[in-house]
Amino acid sequence: MEVSMDVNTNQYQGTQRLVYSNNSHDTLYRVFYHLYYNAFQPGSMMDVRSRTIADPDRRVGDRISKLSPDEIGYLHVKNLKVNGKTAEANEVGTILEVTLPEPILPNSQATLELEFDGQVPVQIRRSGRDSEEGVRYSMSQWYPKLANYDEQGWHANPYIGREFYGIWGDFDVKITIDKEYTIGGTGYLQNPNEIGHGYQDEGVTVPEPTGETLTWHFKAPMVHDFMWGADPKYQHDKVLMDNGITVHHFFIPGEKTSENWEKLKEFTPKAIEYMSEHFGQYPYKQFSVVQGGDGGMEYAMSTLITGERSLPSLVGVMVHELAHSWYHGVLATNESLYPWMDEGFTSYATNLTMGEIMSRGRSNVHAGSYRGYFGLVASGLEEPLATHSDHYHTNRAYGAAAYSKGAVFMEQMGYVIGAEVRDRGLLRYFNEWQFKHPNVNDLIRIMEKESGLELDWYKEYYVFTTKTIDYAIKEVKPNGDKTELTLQRVGLMPMPVDLVITYKDGSQESIYLPLVIMRGEKAQEEGTPTRIHTEKWAWVNLEKTLVIDRNLETIKSIEIDPTKRMADVQPENNKVEF
Ligand SMILES: [Zn+2]
Repeated sequence: MEVSMDVNTNQYQGTQRLVYSNNSHDTLYRVFYHLYYNAFQPGSMMDVRSRTIADPDRRVGDRISKLSPDEIGYLHVKNLKVNGKTAEANEVGTILEVTLPEPILPNSQATLELEFDGQVPVQIRRSGRDSEEGVRYSMSQWYPKLANYDEQGWHANPYIGREFYGIWGDFDVKITIDKEYTIGGTGYLQNPNEIGHGYQDEGVTVPEPTGETLTWHFKAPMVHDFMWGADPKYQHDKVLMDNGITVHHFFIPGEKTSENWEKLKEFTPKAIEYMSEHFGQYPYKQFSVVQGGDGGMEYAMSTLITGERSLPSLVGVMVHELAHSWYHGVLATNESLYPWMDEGFTSYATNLTMGEIMSRGRSNVHAGSYRGYFGLVASGLEEPLATHSDHYHTNRAYGAAAYSKGAVFMEQMGYVIGAEVRDRGLLRYFNEWQFKHPNVNDLIRIMEKESGLELDWYKEYYVFTTKTIDYAIKEVKPNGDKTELTLQRVGLMPMPVDLVITYKDGSQESIYLPLVIMRGEKAQEEGTPTRIHTEKWAWVNLEKTLVIDRNLETIKSIEIDPTKRMADVQPENNKVEF
């Protein structure tokens, strides 16, 4: 792509040449492009949805409905050609519907060329100009972006509010803009010693630009998106990590930013290191943290975050958006369709990383995610995790499901198959599925192979329903010189049960009740009380009676899952003390 931005009118023109490989078994007669900026117009689907949803996002509300012609966003395509032949294109809101002049056959390539012109909307959601913090351009979702075609067909979802799904590509982008502007975002700058702005190699004197503009040349291999932020006031700091990754930070210096962004420079490399070790090697040579947007949003090799934050908040949002590099950036699960596999796993990774780099020693880093999920259940607003992100009835139900229930999915997976096995599975998932857009079945299969257990039931209940977990200790009574114990499944979702018995002498033992349908048992986890007994529990039985080989007099307490990884919505009935 080649694009040129007029910083006075906030309008831009560009050309795009895309070589498309149809790797499917299907002949394609149509293609679709996203034209996201058309969402920022009065009467757009995003405008209507933002005003009519029960709990509006306060960043959006009715703001789109009030935009004047020079404040709206737009993106229009003209002269669309496929293999040199003119294609018929029909703009429908944020989607361009294209009828191909000739079909694209399976295992063949086609060259799609077009021209586009756009206007950057005032900053309302994710992208835009002149943010509250004064950042001129947050250029995300700004170019005609080919929709993805996969085993489920086209994903030509209109832009209504939620996030996106992209198609892999090697990007080569030239951006021409006023020479005062510094650009940061996706991609490796190809002409750093011509551009300067903090990109030049050490000791290089950058020549004075001859005209009023500079043309920045970026390349980004194997990404599904290309974002850039631009501002004449950006301070650009560059940190080279030992592993060869360069971390860039771009922010507008000031009272509310400079001190914390200076400190942030230490945390970003630490977070990349921790995550590479635990969730898979970060595959790019660069990551850029760019002040912009309206909160935090992840893009390929980069993020846009608001910058006027306390240090914990700044580090927290950076870590969260960075963690997306694994789940949104590289695994690239369809975030519209399976938001919880991105936001949830990202939140899970964030909890662990923040525990490591910001608040070492906190006992349960996932407690907030469990609280979020339990709050959702109590609210009565819960919808299944399998809901498409645009189709949740409320913002709250989307947020708590995607972020909290999604994070709980992964921590609870550790309860079901063992934490160590889950950790290995998560690495294997990244290594086997990177750059392949995995879905929930792909993840479950990896965890099944790693654990040797059948886990389809876990997916079916937890992802496709809103059934909740509640196990109880119903009764404990003496039985001769032994103790008889009755457990009850109160909730509709079955789970394996870890039961821990604490004796009056301080020692502990455990009893394990896996589900019959797991077709196996998790190994005893490190640091857990010795397992003295294993007994399978068929989920149709609502109660299970066990006999403990010890006198009730010797028992201090009996508790279901003291690790609290099982998301039991009613923990009060999980423990009896004598
Ligand atoms: Zn996120």
